[in-house]
Amino acid sequence: MITITRPCRCSRCRADIPPPPAGSCTTGYARDNRRRKVCYACCLKTDMAYMHKHGVISAYVGENKNEITNWPGGVLLRVTYSATRSHNLWACRQLLHVWAVDDKGRRWYGKGAGPGICITMRRLAR
Ligand SMILES: [Zn+2]
Repeated sequence: MITITRPCRCSRCRADIPPPPAGSCTTGYARDNRRRKVCYACCLKTDMAYMHKHGVISAYVGENKNEITNWPGGVLLRVTYSATRSHNLWACRQLLHVWAVDDKGRRWYGKGAGPGICITMRRLAR
């Protein structure tokens, strides 16, 4: 467990990052690609901006398969449809296919091993 003695501050929006609840194993903040501390809200904004610019994002399927989130749990995409299919090539291996929409109504698709496991989502051409 990590104990934070000084309050820390987001390097983007300068908001105070509250210390995590006692007994929590999370830090309460994320790190950007230059290892600076950023709050979860800014982390989500950064991931959203990346996703819209590049049309691809590595994310996680929510436990209930209703949403695609970044690692702190911020919602990037809303799942519209998902289906688990067995792959013929690998017997017993299940693959989760996910269709989702972003905040601008554009459609995304990805496939992965299931909830809680990293999935690469790609924006679909209209
Ligand atoms: Zn921030």
